[in-house]
Amino acid sequence: GKGCPLLDGAWQNLGRRRWSHTERIGIMGGTFDPIHYGHLVAAEEARHRFGLACVMFVPCGQPPHKKPYAVTPAEHRYAMTLLATASNPHFVVSRLEIDRPGPSYSVDTVRLLRQQFPDAELFLITGADAVLEILTWKDSDELIGLCRFIAVTRPGYDLQQLERLPAHYLERIMPLAIPGVDISSTLIRERVRRGEPIRYLTPDAVCDYIAKHGLYRSEVTG
Ligand code: ATP
Ligand code: MG
Repeated sequence: GKGCPLLDGAWQNLGRRRWSHTERIGIMGGTFDPIHYGHLVAAEEARHRFGLACVMFVPCGQPPHKKPYAVTPAEHRYAMTLLATASNPHFVVSRLEIDRPGPSYSVDTVRLLRQQFPDAELFLITGADAVLEILTWKDSDELIGLCRFIAVTRPGYDLQQLERLPAHYLERIMPLAIPGVDISSTLIRERVRRGEPIRYLTPDAVCDYIAKHGLYRSEVTG
């Protein structure tokens, strides 16, 4: 049918089953510490504009560019990502990176998804800040060959700078202007630490989860 091919859970059994479809699948990677409306608007707008069948949110295990102790345990970040995306029938959350030991690299994840969805078109959704660093990512030349990128605008970052990238990158990166959401996970962590409200920056269920588990109250995280 026209539903999301990832929804029946088979996508978790990597290697056991091969999908044969030509749909477009979005991949929204991030630390999601915590997830917020910037991530959700980016994913939904990319889905709408590019006709994606669904968007798979992939919380990273160990972020390669951040110190491991500075990041909230993966199960909390995974739970918040589930809570925030549960109401959208086109959104799914993958444990792929959090169940894989060692640092999480996009290229490893996309390589696996490429194998599992050989006929799908894969789109990695990234904000302007992230995509401008693509040349520093592990095996970036291989990665750009495995999927296309949707580079969404983000307040404070200049997507025009993309022009500096080599041509074979540029032709695989689709810029997308989205409604500006000037929210970052860093901002939310700082606000919690200072005792300031975070309501309306991320879904209520995420606010409640943060309060319930006392996340982000100390200096250590972030
Ligand atoms: P942190 O402040 O901890 O770095 P973050 O808000 O940047 O958190 P990440 O998990 O680092 O969130 O980002 C995951 C992806 O979402 C990245 O590609 C990032 O560019 C994108 N993104 C995050 N926030 C926004 C936003 N407000 N608008 C557009 N894209 C965003
Ligand atoms: Mg970030």
